[in-house]
Amino acid sequence: MLTRSALIYLSRKEGLKDFAARFSLFKKLTTRFIAGESIDEAVAAIREVNAHGCSASFDHLNESVGSTAETEAEVREYLDVLRRIDETGINSNVSIKLTQFGLEIDPELAYRNARRVVEDAARRGNFVRVDMEGSNVTQATIDVFKRLRAEFGLNDVGIVLQSYLYRTMDDARDLLKIPARIRLCKGAYNEPPEVAYPNKKDVDDNYIRVMKLLLSSGIYHGIATHDPRMIDATLEFAKREEVSKGAFEFQMLYGIRRDLQEQLARDGYGMRVYVPYGKHWYPYFMRRLAERPANIWFVLKNLWK
Ligand SMILES: Cc1cc2nc3c(=O)[nH]c(=O)nc-3n(C[C@H](O)[C@H](O)[C@H](O)COP(=O)(O)OP(=O)(O)OC[C@H]3O[C@@H](n4cnc5c(N)ncnc54)[C@H](O)[C@@H]3O)c2cc1C
Repeated sequence: MLTRSALIYLSRKEGLKDFAARFSLFKKLTTRFIAGESIDEAVAAIREVNAHGCSASFDHLNESVGSTAETEAEVREYLDVLRRIDETGINSNVSIKLTQFGLEIDPELAYRNARRVVEDAARRGNFVRVDMEGSNVTQATIDVFKRLRAEFGLNDVGIVLQSYLYRTMDDARDLLKIPARIRLCKGAYNEPPEVAYPNKKDVDDNYIRVMKLLLSSGIYHGIATHDPRMIDATLEFAKREEVSKGAFEFQMLYGIRRDLQEQLARDGYGMRVYVPYGKHWYPYFMRRLAERPANIWFVLKNLWK
């Protein structure tokens, strides 16, 4: 039986992608979670998402980029995406990863690259979300984000926090002082018990504590989860504390719990769907399998059909 950590380990082995991509079935399964390889395919997916009452966030898949030239290509891709959002009139912002912009090469490079994208988004009245990655780059990500936030407005750039990290409540309090718009998620990487809660129950309890802090702040945040328990806790807290439906949004991933996405949108809540696309889909896809190993059975079952 493949465990979550084994799948996350495999997610870092890019070479396996070429092997996996040879199986058309594998490819078919990826289309459930990934909107395609080109901007055009992502735009088409977002039109569909918008038609169901949900907004979106573009994510050009790529991480741990190893050369300055490749980071430049990533910046250009995002500038293109922002232009296409305006041209097509779709309802979407963008999500970026700082390792995609060179964080592991030089934090200054990542800052300069991210700054170009945030500046363009701000000029267009759009918004950039800085995703959170592994704990080896948590502090560096927050540092770059704070520099961006010092230069740009609350509604130009936001960040992500992960409830599995022990440090997250302190980070949330600190970032709210700036203030900053935060997306709260559980966290998708393999983290050691020195930095992250090993038990799901503790991750969930921390999620609810941080969610309450965020919803009480008067700032517009994103509650990113597919977990009905987290969603119910959020709805209940918002009702009890009279936090209006328009004061925050839910966020989910493309292809996961579409029924719940559409239900919340119908109920009048903001619902944003994170739409990943691009050629480097392999690590993202493997992290999704790791969250729900049952999806592997879906692959295997279909292999024998
Ligand atoms: C919009 C958005 C942005 C995110 N950004 C980041 C980020 O920047 N950094 C980061 O580390 N993580 C990010 N994540 C991922 C997140 O950290 C979790 O790994 C992921 O959302 C699974 O956690 P969960 O809250 O859905 O709860 P879980 O406890 O994992 O799942 C609860 C239920 O949701 C359903 N479900 C969850 N995952 C799947 C799946 N893959 N396939 C089918 N059903 C599933 C199942 O019914 C499951 O029982 C993001 C998630 C979302 C929704």
